[in-house]
Amino acid sequence: MHTIFDQAVARLVSMGQVAGIADTVLAGLSRPKAMMYASLPVRMDDGSTQYFDAYRCHYSQMLGPSKGGIRFHPGVDDGEMRALGLWMTIKCAVVNLPYGGAKGGVVVDPKLLSRMELERLSRAYMRAMADFVGPDLDIPAPDVYTNERIMGWMRDEYEVIKGGKFPAVITGKPVNLGGSEGRFEATGRGAFYCIEFLRAKKGRVPEDLTIAIQGFGNAGYHLARLLAEAGYKVVAVSDSQGGIYCAQGLDVELVHERKIATNQLHPNYPEGSVSRCENCDSYKSISNEELLAMEVDILVPAALENAITKNNVDAVRAKWVVEVANGPISHDADQVLFERGTVVIPDVLANAGGVIVSYFEWVQNRAGYPWSLLDVQSRLKEKLEAAFEEMWQFQHQKEGVSFRQAAYAKALLHLQEVFKMKGTKEYFANGD
Ligand code: NAD
Repeated sequence: MHTIFDQAVARLVSMGQVAGIADTVLAGLSRPKAMMYASLPVRMDDGSTQYFDAYRCHYSQMLGPSKGGIRFHPGVDDGEMRALGLWMTIKCAVVNLPYGGAKGGVVVDPKLLSRMELERLSRAYMRAMADFVGPDLDIPAPDVYTNERIMGWMRDEYEVIKGGKFPAVITGKPVNLGGSEGRFEATGRGAFYCIEFLRAKKGRVPEDLTIAIQGFGNAGYHLARLLAEAGYKVVAVSDSQGGIYCAQGLDVELVHERKIATNQLHPNYPEGSVSRCENCDSYKSISNEELLAMEVDILVPAALENAITKNNVDAVRAKWVVEVANGPISHDADQVLFERGTVVIPDVLANAGGVIVSYFEWVQNRAGYPWSLLDVQSRLKEKLEAAFEEMWQFQHQKEGVSFRQAAYAKALLHLQEVFKMKGTKEYFANGD
């Protein structure tokens, strides 16, 4: 299997076949609806102009306008955009949002840009995509190495181009620029609720559960914080530079503060690393590979795709794996974990908190009526609990079905119904 998109389609087809989804529907979902490619000219601080390749993928708009984050990363490519767009399509259907799936990205190492260069790049992205996004067409949000400040610049650029106020064109904005309360931590909070639901089903108490988290960014940090507050033992976390371990449980806030405190050279991104906390008493530096192989109850890959593949899956010893990153387990490694009896909460459920609160933000923007933080949190919990319970029941009623299969079955059956209603002639020519 070559690209990450090939793997994503292989997973879609195999999950779809188990759920009895028609081939025509699977064929329709095996390719994006539309792709936009652009080259972004950006004036650098030294007066030169650099060009950055940019993408936006409308994967599906079957259920509504497409929704998906924008990633600034050197590894962004066409296949990654398509895979992430497909997973967003499934995710929105799993949690019953009136959205299709999308994704966007720029091939760039944003840590090498100054703040002004980053702003010019963000605005250039929106200029290139202004006719390809919109509150009723396609709504971007933050993803890896983009943040609320970037969303604010992009909203502003869109409004300069279109002439007017369009807060619902993008989500994950700062609260004072039309963002939602609670969006900043929504992905981590959603994953936290999923872990809590699973823990309750398994009859365990937080104090007895050890956790290792790969990736200490927006999603990983807030999840670590909420778990530690609830009494779980977060024994290891890592970022792109390495990890840190403490058998008694890390002081998550201290680790975070240390990471932020070394943010001297590049004010846009925390250049510090969690691995710099090694001098704390009884804290030990570990590699990312060591973290993935730790004997913990819960392993949380919260960084990038393909953290666990057939090359390292045999080393994974955790009993539960909670996919906070998108696509962190390859299709073949997933099968190995399933056969071994490892419980995997799939990305399309575990990290859905981000898009759910993005949806709330869009609803608030359109209504012109902001909600309280408590409102956001309780509605998020309610939505995730309903989806989790449905998947749990499905999985327990059918022998040999994984959580992921239950999630895909739910999403694909929903999408199939809409395919039937919208495109009978195109998709169901044989009358099935
Ligand atoms: P982020 O940019 O805030 O953080 C990314 C983190 O991953 C950083 O700590 C970085 O150092 C670490 N990292 C990068 N490469 C790594 C590597 N090779 N090994 C270990 N750590 C590495 O990004 P984020 O928003 O937290 O996103 C993380 C994952 O969660 C992504 O897969 C993203 O698609 C997914 N996700 C994010 C959201 C959201 O709302 N932010 C929503 C759903 C899913």
